[in-house]
Amino acid sequence: MSKRVGIIGGGAAGLFTACMLMKLQVNRELDVTILESNPEPGKKLTLTGHGRCNITNRKPVSELKKGYHEAENYIYPALKAFGPEDTVRFFETDLGLKVKEEDNNRIFPVCDSAIQVRNTIVSYISDQTNIVCNAKVLDIKKTSCFEVHTASGIYEFDCIVLSCGGSSFPHTGSAGDSYRFALSSGHSVVPLRAALAPVKTENGSQNITKKLSGVSVTAGVSVYCDGRKNASNNGEILFADFGLTGPAIMEISREIPGDLSGMDVWIELDLIPSLTEEQLDKELISLIDEHPDTKISTLMSGFVPASVADEITSKAEAAGLYAQSFTRENRRRLIKEAKHLRIGIDQVPSLDRAYVTRGGVMLKEVDRKTFQSRLVPGLYIIGEALDIDGISGGYNLQACMSEAYLAAADILGK
Ligand SMILES: Cc1cc2nc3c(=O)[nH]c(=O)nc-3n(C[C@H](O)[C@H](O)[C@H](O)COP(=O)(O)OP(=O)(O)OC[C@H]3O[C@@H](n4cnc5c(N)ncnc54)[C@H](O)[C@@H]3O)c2cc1C
Repeated sequence: MSKRVGIIGGGAAGLFTACMLMKLQVNRELDVTILESNPEPGKKLTLTGHGRCNITNRKPVSELKKGYHEAENYIYPALKAFGPEDTVRFFETDLGLKVKEEDNNRIFPVCDSAIQVRNTIVSYISDQTNIVCNAKVLDIKKTSCFEVHTASGIYEFDCIVLSCGGSSFPHTGSAGDSYRFALSSGHSVVPLRAALAPVKTENGSQNITKKLSGVSVTAGVSVYCDGRKNASNNGEILFADFGLTGPAIMEISREIPGDLSGMDVWIELDLIPSLTEEQLDKELISLIDEHPDTKISTLMSGFVPASVADEITSKAEAAGLYAQSFTRENRRRLIKEAKHLRIGIDQVPSLDRAYVTRGGVMLKEVDRKTFQSRLVPGLYIIGEALDIDGISGGYNLQACMSEAYLAAADILGK
């Protein structure tokens, strides 16, 4: 009898597992079923990369692993076993989807269509995989096999791959069921937080972000908690009505604590990161000398967009001041606002708008060489369900791919 494999959740990780099982099995020795709660598989996958699907990132694996934060060492063997080059080869050779490389080593399909990626994967696996949609798994029981309960019946499998996703973007179907199933099978779950999320700022700070809504700048971004710097990075930020977003903000959002009660938390923006305070001061002094009859906000617009220049000069109480009347104290205040703009945070970033989940099934309970549970033989756990989150740029789909490969190889005894 064929080995019965149940894939719980037909998102990126579940679909990739079916692909890998199909690629690796020789004599159709498996009977593979995907149970997906949505009417169609891969809903979140179709939204990836702004609808274009950033499938992986072509950095060398030794560098790529650093994009997985605390999980860097855990995921390294999986990336080595099936890395970006393997993903590219699989897409081009097996799926027939040519790919292209964009900035920062990001890989996209030439068709620029995440829907086409999903559809191509589904047609690749459909010959050897039973894809059951509208099949929300309600419960999983381990008897002599795995009994998987859905509203329309009970399925029996010899092994299962838990790939129900995390808790981010829950309207796509990943509403945290992975954790419920993992907990009920004895696993521990590291508390969940938003990662790669926009950041809602406190009302006072929204005055600035609302006024600058739609403006994008390159900035230094630091997260402070009770006066201590938690993390910092550099990159593009975008002001919005609700607060802050853009790549550098999304990337650092995971560093905002999961509980803000009793804490003073803020994001500090360095709006002129290319200059130190001393360099900026020197440049301001020479500009003031050269243009004494010019408004200081106009001089500042040589460093930042005019709307940002207006905002920081007004915050530094220098709105309307001309260069000739600008004092050393005025310069000190202006530089403080330009390089240490404080934006208060009084809400944790929401999982509803996060691209991925930080936290999840505890990694030490899952073998990193096979992605099989160390507690329940025959149970594999992959994808966003695990306590792994990557930075943006194709890292999260690559993680799904690498994990799916090792799980599939182990299921097939390879
Ligand atoms: C807007 C957006 C853009 C993104 N862009 C990129 C990108 O370009 N590149 C990148 O690398 N990453 C990107 N990501 C992250 C990436 O999409 C995720 O890391 C990835 O989808 C996780 O795959 P998964 O299979 O673990 O979870 P999911 O893709 O969420 O799939 C889980 C599946 O399980 C199903 N399910 C849940 N509960 C049950 C149940 N009880 N029974 C049956 N089925 C169930 C869900 O319906 C879902 O289909 C993006 C994320 C978002 C939200």
